[in-house]
Amino acid sequence: MVFSCYFVNMKIDTTNKQTMHPFYKSGEWRALRKLALERDHSECVWCKEEGKLTTENLEVDHIKEVEFYPELALELNNLRTLCHDCHNKRHGRATSKKRKWDDEVFEW
Ligand SMILES: [Zn+2]
Repeated sequence: MVFSCYFVNMKIDTTNKQTMHPFYKSGEWRALRKLALERDHSECVWCKEEGKLTTENLEVDHIKEVEFYPELALELNNLRTLCHDCHNKRHGRATSKKRKWDDEVFEW
């Protein structure tokens, strides 16, 4: 896939969230994130499994985290659309700490 090849050239520094910031700001990520949202019909896939329809506060999650699988960072198959609540659950975050993770928030 073109994205992956390009990504390898990008050499993302996965040391921490700060060094990974350029990745989340990249046009490639933004484009792919949009594709993931379209593929998932702009609804939370976890809520959908529970029979709920959530189309607000959507974020695109890496199934295999970029930190550990940077080669999958731009693989559409490694992405899924989650709402903010499900995304927090998935990463085991307390909602009070949500500010820290702003870089994965989808901006409409
Ligand atoms: Zn959800």
